[in-house]
Amino acid sequence: MNSNQSFIPYGRQSVDEDDIAAVVETLRSDWLTTGPKISEFERSVADCAGVRHGVAVNSGTAALHAAMFAMDVGPGDEVIAPVMTFAATANCVLYRGATPVLVDVHPDTLLIDPAAVEAAITPKTKAIVGVDYAGQPCDWDRLRAIADRRGLMLAADGCHALGAEYKQKKVGSLADLTCFSFHPVKHITTGEGGMTVTNYSDFADRMRRFRSHGIDVDPRQRAERGTWFYEMVDLGFNYRITDFQCALGLRQLTKLPRWLERRRGIAARYDEAFASVDMIQPLKKSADIRHAYHLYVVKIDFERLGKSRKELFSDLRARGIGVNVHYIPIHMHPYYRDNLNYKGGEFPAAEKAYEQILSLPMYPAMSDSQVDAVIANLQEILCGIGA
Ligand SMILES: *Cc1c(COP(=O)(O)O)cnc(C)c1O
Repeated sequence: MNSNQSFIPYGRQSVDEDDIAAVVETLRSDWLTTGPKISEFERSVADCAGVRHGVAVNSGTAALHAAMFAMDVGPGDEVIAPVMTFAATANCVLYRGATPVLVDVHPDTLLIDPAAVEAAITPKTKAIVGVDYAGQPCDWDRLRAIADRRGLMLAADGCHALGAEYKQKKVGSLADLTCFSFHPVKHITTGEGGMTVTNYSDFADRMRRFRSHGIDVDPRQRAERGTWFYEMVDLGFNYRITDFQCALGLRQLTKLPRWLERRRGIAARYDEAFASVDMIQPLKKSADIRHAYHLYVVKIDFERLGKSRKELFSDLRARGIGVNVHYIPIHMHPYYRDNLNYKGGEFPAAEKAYEQILSLPMYPAMSDSQVDAVIANLQEILCGIGA
């Protein structure tokens, strides 16, 4: 069915004429980088996340690296992170010469398991990083209680969760530092880009230096003060984002509420369709959150289906449905296996879930008929229902 429909990817950006105009206008301005659009974008994202400071950088990965630097994570330190996430969540700990200590996730939500966090704490533990997987916030109250009781810092990889809420609090205001990504599949895009938000001005200052070689005054301030003098006080990087990217981000952010609503509408349509199909189990959603639906993840009973995930994956792709898998648990990657001595079997919930999960197409420009096409194709393959 629908053999001539165009390919439906699992995620994609929406870029309108006003986005393009904003980028072009900034290209004609005096500042292509380190200019006024950057602080304007930082202000807007921080407001949207309910926090005081935002530090924009050129990727979500750089935002995570900056957060680790801000917390002074270094050699000899351990940072606890969930195993079901994109590798960058743990890589940023390795960048600092510290050790990521991976823990298992809850099988129903694939969110970090607070009991596993508690069990993984050692005298070397410095911080916990929660990942709001798929766009659903972790159990931040429990993570906060653990961090406070054990004197640890709490960071969030919020790359899936811009606009999500936990007990009426916005993602961004729940951890000490929260990192966002503006890659094209995320909620808003700057091409590549990221930001770490925080209520702590000392963290924000450290991250501003970190993104620009560890230098203590930014070039615009220097130009305004008419001085050549600067000092490098930390070992930083060039993680700067450009003004034309931030101009794009600012336009994109105005559409975030509408896009979140659309993502939630698509999820509701999937939920309703799959409620009666017991071979398809969407991940569980807790009652006290507002989901941001970066991903719509289902678990499929492949044993009952009598087909492998690989077969279903290529069947759907052949029908123009761009499903994906998020994620291969971090410890299963050769780099982690070889360098951190994982053998497999350490994280039964994540490993079992990995065999069952599939991410279905989810992006704001997806039409109802495209959502219905995904549902119909899945039902047809799984249950032999339909044309
Ligand atoms: C996208 C993503 C990142 C990395 O962001 P980039 O902008 O691609 O560097 C990190 N963690 C998670 C969970 C992500 O989804």
